[in-house]
Amino acid sequence: MTYSVKEIYYTLQGEGAHTGRPAVFLRFAGCNLWSGREQHRAGAVCRFCDTDFVGTDGPGGGKYETAEELAAAAMTTWPADTNNSPYVVCTGGEPLLQLDEAAISALHDAGFEVGVESNGTIPAPEGIDWLCISPKGLATVVQRSGDELKLVYPQEEPEAQPECFEDLGFEHFFLQPLHDDDIEANTQASIQYCLAHPRWRLSLQTHKIIGVP
Ligand code: SF4
Repeated sequence: MTYSVKEIYYTLQGEGAHTGRPAVFLRFAGCNLWSGREQHRAGAVCRFCDTDFVGTDGPGGGKYETAEELAAAAMTTWPADTNNSPYVVCTGGEPLLQLDEAAISALHDAGFEVGVESNGTIPAPEGIDWLCISPKGLATVVQRSGDELKLVYPQEEPEAQPECFEDLGFEHFFLQPLHDDDIEANTQASIQYCLAHPRWRLSLQTHKIIGVP
C-alpha cells in the first residue's frame, strides 16, 4: 500500500488527555467528511475543519511506498538525543482511510507508541495504543469504543450532542470548544456543560494558545 502523507512534524500534543506530551504528528492526506476544498465546505458533512490535509506538500509529506518507509520517516523527526517513549499521533484528515495494521506494526517496530485521532466513521484496526474518536455532525460513529472521546462543542446536529455519546465505551470524555468567531462563547458553553455534567472534561487547543503548530 502507498501511504499519502500531508506532513510529519514534531511538536506537543495540544488537546485531550495527552495535552503537553511531545509527539510526532503524522498527518495523512484526505478525509471522508470533506474534500478539504473551500468551495465544498458548505455542503460537507463536517464543516468546521481547521486543518489543511490536502496533498502531500508539507514538511515530511509525500507518498510512502511501504509501511517501513513511513515509520522511518516519522522516526527521523523524533529527537536523536533521546529514545525515551517515542510517541506518534496519526491524524489527518481521516487517518483510518490509510492507517492499516501493517503501518501500526511498522511504527511499533520503529519504537513508537501509536496514538490515533479519528472521526469514528471507520472501524479501527488492531494494535492502536491510544484511540481518540472525535464525532462530527451527522456522520455515524461506528467506532464506539476507545480511550478518549473528544467532542467539538457546540455542534448543531441533534446527533452530535454530548448525551448521544456518553454511554459509549471510552475511558475519557472531553468537550472541546469550537474554534470559530464565537470561541469565547463556545468556551463558556463548554465550561458550563462540563460543570453540569461532570463526566465531561474541558479540552482546550493549547497549541493555539501557546503558538506551536
Ligand atoms: S473529520 Fe476531521 S479532518 Fe475531516 S473535515 Fe472534519 S475536522 Fe477535518
